[in-house]
Amino acid sequence: MKQHRNLPFFVPHAGCPNCCVFCSQVKITGEKCEKALETELSELKAMLDSAGSEYPESQIAFFGGSFTAIERARMEALLSVANEYIEKGVAESIRISTRPDCINEEIISVLKKYRVSNVELGVQSTDDSVLNASGRGHTAKASFEAARLLVENGIVFGGQMMIGLPGSSLESEMKTAEDIVCMGAGEARIYPTVVFEGTKLYDMAKNGEYVPLSLDDAVARSAKCFEIFRKAGVKLLRIGLHASENLKNAPMGANHPAIGELVKSRVYADIICEKVGECRGKRLCIAIRREDISMLRGHGGKAIELIKDATGASEIEITPLDIPQFCPEVKIL
Ligand code: SF4
Repeated sequence: MKQHRNLPFFVPHAGCPNCCVFCSQVKITGEKCEKALETELSELKAMLDSAGSEYPESQIAFFGGSFTAIERARMEALLSVANEYIEKGVAESIRISTRPDCINEEIISVLKKYRVSNVELGVQSTDDSVLNASGRGHTAKASFEAARLLVENGIVFGGQMMIGLPGSSLESEMKTAEDIVCMGAGEARIYPTVVFEGTKLYDMAKNGEYVPLSLDDAVARSAKCFEIFRKAGVKLLRIGLHASENLKNAPMGANHPAIGELVKSRVYADIICEKVGECRGKRLCIAIRREDISMLRGHGGKAIELIKDATGASEIEITPLDIPQFCPEVKIL
């Protein structure tokens, strides 16, 4: 069986011409911004050397900055090292993340030359007023255009979006998820906004210009977008930032280390509530994938409580199902 493995390499804030209100790449990755190229290349080689070649289907992933905006010689040097290791059988392809306005035909030809197969775009929102309030420095049109170029060139486009940006709402977030689907995304990530110290967003929250997302709102709104991606068959790669040391210290916003699990359990609860409607005083039997039972029962049984509140069921029984798909069966007794 094919074993997929990501070999991540962070290129923090490198080349980014912008200052989004929420961004503190140094805090997210815990690394300093700029390094000498030799140091960076040695670190990349060391990481790839230690990876070994037992999983040749691995993917080398450059994350953390606007990869296609970094100085061209540096970008090609990093890609070139990655290609050396593809030749050695350590990995088979490359993934990068970048801003929508840092993709054009010429950049795509460079990416193809170096076997970049997946490009994740920081779409964040397709509402221009949200992009503007977040200091993104590009419009939604740039995302549509970049996605079109990627898809036309056979590169898998991944759409990254955020929940709870300044001026955003559930409606604009659901529209963003729908737009990412329409752009032809094969993959997506959902990032509920987290407020780091030292960012403009932190100051905005302190002076009342911005209200940080509560965990409940972040989970409920992310769940709606998750459903849009799931129904469209877009692979959801991740919900929420990695729970790094620095993330733990972010003082405001949806900073829960297991937010992805909370969102999935909320999605289950929403699907079940929609299927069941009202069943006041009745017993509800839910059959779900065996491996998902802990997700529904976990986190203090919040999802179960939510289902009880929304449906009026007096009792809930959960039984395991050996099915591959993420879809519950429900019986009311
Ligand atoms: S474009 Fe990306 S790296 Fe640059 S400031 Fe915004 S979030 Fe940070």
